[in-house]
Amino acid sequence: MSDAQPNPQEMARYQRELNLLEQVHVALGTASKLDDFYLIAASMLVDPNAFGYSRAFILRYDERSRTFLGRVGLGVQTREEHERFRRNILEETLRLQELVDAIQQESPEPRAVQPLYDLRFHSLWIHLLQGSGDGEGLNDAFREVSVHREALGPDHLLERTAAGIRAQILNPGDAPLAGLEDFISCPCVVGRLMTRRGLHGVVVADRVYEDSPIDDEALYHFQWLVNHASVTLENVELVEDLTATTQRLQEVDRLKTNFLSIVSHELRTPLTSIVGFVHLLSDERVGPLTESQRDLLSRVSQHSGHLQNMVNDILEIAEVEGGGMVNVELAPVDPLGALLHVLPKVEARRGARNITIEPLLRGSVPMVWADESALERVFFHLLDNAVKFISNEGRVTVEFLVREGVLDIAIRDTGIGISQENLKGIFDHFYQVDFRLERAYGGMGIGLTVVKLLLDAMTGRIRVESTVGVGSCFTLTFPIVSDAARAVPK
Ligand code: ADP
Repeated sequence: MSDAQPNPQEMARYQRELNLLEQVHVALGTASKLDDFYLIAASMLVDPNAFGYSRAFILRYDERSRTFLGRVGLGVQTREEHERFRRNILEETLRLQELVDAIQQESPEPRAVQPLYDLRFHSLWIHLLQGSGDGEGLNDAFREVSVHREALGPDHLLERTAAGIRAQILNPGDAPLAGLEDFISCPCVVGRLMTRRGLHGVVVADRVYEDSPIDDEALYHFQWLVNHASVTLENVELVEDLTATTQRLQEVDRLKTNFLSIVSHELRTPLTSIVGFVHLLSDERVGPLTESQRDLLSRVSQHSGHLQNMVNDILEIAEVEGGGMVNVELAPVDPLGALLHVLPKVEARRGARNITIEPLLRGSVPMVWADESALERVFFHLLDNAVKFISNEGRVTVEFLVREGVLDIAIRDTGIGISQENLKGIFDHFYQVDFRLERAYGGMGIGLTVVKLLLDAMTGRIRVESTVGVGSCFTLTFPIVSDAARAVPK
């Protein structure tokens, strides 16, 4: 065997192929929408530095209606026009490049203008495709094409392309172009775009105003483009799908919140009446009660109180999601005062269980930047959980710790704890570690979501540590109001 060195001609060809491949890869990689993709792919084909065709376009295939659809450029009428357009475009491209270079020299983020330039560059080439058109807009010079597959014979250009893996050259008289004669001049080159979903469409390009023929090498490079384009297309489809799905989910989420909010409003009014009437009865304002009547009424009162909490929770989340947080205003707040304000409400939730709730104080507690009523709501939800997830007896403490300009507020309980795996999801809407558990402990998986949203609005932070069977610790962090800030008169 000989150690044959590639000759310079082969090396040059190899280099050109590498450049071409890189160009295809980079240009198509910038597409994130189908429209951009069509624009970029077609314009790369007519760019003389890449593939150098005279005209190129993509016809999409719609499986449901079994139709090839697209907007194709009619092309310029003469070779001279073609040359003139190309010259103009190259000049404009050069001017654009100079502009981009100038901006990049000044801009601290040099990459910022590049995608804009790329798109502008490709749309310039599309001008070449659209023809002269006497000052018409880009859209006017395009014509809608719609060809039903059923009407095509097996030899039709589109049918043959759709069925073949390999791209092919179509010579004059080779195959019927029925329905496409206005747009395609033979010889031309055609290839199909395939994605995981099936046939996406066909790419067509001709060299009617170019001197270089469509030979095997041109076909080989065209096949490259079609293969790469198919892979890129799949990414573009995936991105579009994901974006559409996300938008749909956001809409469903919004509708759900709206629905919950309406239902809760409707429930709140009759519930308030029920609670009010039960109080009237319990206070014996209507007449004396027997022991068993009193017992039954206390149960009605307990359950309706529970229902009221649930309704308030739902309304709270609807309010927070609907932008209710705009009312949050940061001001110096005394966190101990806010805590003491909330404690009686939480203590009432202990029921018959033996649970102590106490603040642990080491020196004075500084003022923090927060919103008073939002901070109280945060305290309420965290303490309510701490009490709720203690089975029979235990302890809840609130510790204040000053460090480097911030105040940590640690709410610690000796409850059932949360596993590492479940810690990740507890701030999500309606997330509950265990639905069966919730039957025992009550709640709807809303409290921590509200806490997170309120803290985000106040630029406070929260972290959680927990051990199953030992207890949990939720630590809030707020910036301390410095003496200097406090000295500034309002
Ligand atoms: P819920 O209304 O169910 O309490 P939250 O959003 O407040 O909803 O909490 C979500 C879930 O996180 C709870 O269902 C519970 O599983 C878990 N959790 C929250 N706080 C505690 C805690 N202090 N101890 C144990 N589990 C907790």
